[in-house]
Amino acid sequence: MNILSMLWKNLWGGNRTMLFPARPKVSQGYRGLVKFDPALCTGCAICKFRCTARAIEFKAAKGEFTWSYDPGQCTFCGRCIEGCKSHAIHQEDATPPIYLQIGELKNSYTVARKTTVKAAAPQPAAAPPVSPQSPNPATGGTQ
Ligand code: SF4
Ligand code: SF4
Repeated sequence: MNILSMLWKNLWGGNRTMLFPARPKVSQGYRGLVKFDPALCTGCAICKFRCTARAIEFKAAKGEFTWSYDPGQCTFCGRCIEGCKSHAIHQEDATPPIYLQIGELKNSYTVARKTTVKAAAPQPAAAPPVSPQSPNPATGGTQ
């Protein structure tokens, strides 16, 4: 395209930008928003360490933990999903929400830690009953 045709296109082609809150469609490679299932989460915090955008926060407390996700910081890369062996998070093909204030989309879940019941240690076999010893005729005592 030569410079004149480019100028003509730009002058008469209409707006290239959109007024807020309108926005273009998400690209085909968009993986989606992260969704969390507290019932499946084991509280391992792997997702938090895999998220370089710091969209996931994890706070441990006694008997519970708090898992938070802020779509406003998410780059939708999917690294957290790949690291979650419990399948507690997945990505949904939903359009990223619009927000005006940093952190206003953040969702937090406080989850009680699941108590693991330890298997009972095997009990030693009961000792055979001791029969009363008979007196030794040679010594007069017991054998
Ligand atoms: S969502 Fe998955 S990776 Fe993150 S804390 Fe829960 S179990 Fe661990
Ligand atoms: S998709 Fe990427 S940026 Fe978003 S929470 Fe997961 S690891 Fe972080």
